[in-house]
Amino acid sequence: MTTHIESEEHKALRSAVSALGNRYGRDYLTRTIAEGKPPTELWSEAGKLGYLGVNLPEAHGGGGGGITELSIVLEELGAAGSPLLMLVVSPAICGTVISRFGTEAQKRQWLPGIADGTRLMAFGITEPDAGSNSHRITTTARKDGADWLLSGRKVFISGVDIADAVLIVGRTEDARTGRLKPCLFIVPTDAEGFDKRPIDMELNAAEKQFELVLDDVRLPADALVGDEDAGLLQLFAGLNPERIMTAAFAIGMGRYALAKAVEYARDRTVWKAPIGAHQAIAHPLAQAHIDLELARLMMQKAAHLYDAGDDTGAGEAANMAKYAAGEACVKAVDQAVHTLGGNGLTREFGLASLITAARVARIAPVSREMILNYVSHQTLGLPKSY
Ligand SMILES: Cc1cc2nc3c(=O)[nH]c(=O)nc-3n(C[C@H](O)[C@H](O)[C@H](O)COP(=O)(O)OP(=O)(O)OC[C@H]3O[C@@H](n4cnc5c(N)ncnc54)[C@H](O)[C@@H]3O)c2cc1C
Repeated sequence: MTTHIESEEHKALRSAVSALGNRYGRDYLTRTIAEGKPPTELWSEAGKLGYLGVNLPEAHGGGGGGITELSIVLEELGAAGSPLLMLVVSPAICGTVISRFGTEAQKRQWLPGIADGTRLMAFGITEPDAGSNSHRITTTARKDGADWLLSGRKVFISGVDIADAVLIVGRTEDARTGRLKPCLFIVPTDAEGFDKRPIDMELNAAEKQFELVLDDVRLPADALVGDEDAGLLQLFAGLNPERIMTAAFAIGMGRYALAKAVEYARDRTVWKAPIGAHQAIAHPLAQAHIDLELARLMMQKAAHLYDAGDDTGAGEAANMAKYAAGEACVKAVDQAVHTLGGNGLTREFGLASLITAARVARIAPVSREMILNYVSHQTLGLPKSY
């Protein structure tokens, strides 16, 4: 799938990553998941080849590109059946926030490792009692001399077991009430008072989700990334890439499922012609392809605006891309499973487990409904119900 709006460099990146992804493929990920291990080999090789840090500054070991390039990497790995979820988090959110707002020391400490894959940073915003309403987060930092003491709870945080640190969204004590004025802290996963508990998810994925309890975790002053008073601006610098990357994750998975279904429908013959000749099978697959292509177009727009420095324009496009990609992925996977009939539900063909995996893109990092709310209020100017 190439488009005329994609440069030769981007096409070359796409095919190089696709070759890497296909060398590992779905079988690699299936084995990794069965062994309960993270996809370390693929992660390390992608890091060595420079793919994990394509969006990070060259001065700090990155490729000097943007989210446009990183989204190509994730989409192609996903289309090969071996997506790396932590790309959404480590280089896209954490790497972006540190490179845009971190101190020189923070950049030197974290960016080269995030770029080459030797260090990994998770991201924690979701809380049990806040959920979609980030304004209600209560994880609080209070000053103790030059240090910070951070306390709170987080839930559904991906990849904490393989992360060196978590970028935690909290608020300072004096900003505890009122609208969210978020502060971002780098919290090492081996810090005293930092406790993680895996959540038993029905997801066939290599990355695990965790509940975190932070009990007066002592952090040095320089654990704070950026300005205590910069608020939402800094947070959204990381959340727009997260949405664009979730779109890439969804489009990759949708393409993978669709390709499997098309391959099956071309051969499987129970009447005179292969089942793919029946329009009841062919048309929904064609629709799934169109929906994925349209979602990719919006993702490319969002990435382009973001990389051009238009945070506001990117915000709307990133939300719409995440919405469109999540919906396209859920439908493509559903239709792919259906196309295979009984085989759609066998372990051998490996599509049924994508039904739950595809739903992640509809729920996280921001649900379908919250995006519809955003577009209703921000774009259409409709009143709010909440
Ligand atoms: C696999 C996975 C990985 C994740 N990884 C991370 C991570 O690494 N870091 C992190 O911080 N978080 C992570 N999350 C959390 C994710 O971002 C949240 O699950 C998501 O933001 C929704 O929050 P919630 O689960 O509390 O749902 P809730 O906020 O409780 O929402 C439940 C339902 O109510 C709907 N709803 C809520 N409010 C409204 C409203 N005003 N109008 C209409 N409908 C509404 C929602 O759309 C949803 O359908 C992950 C989640 C999953 C499933």
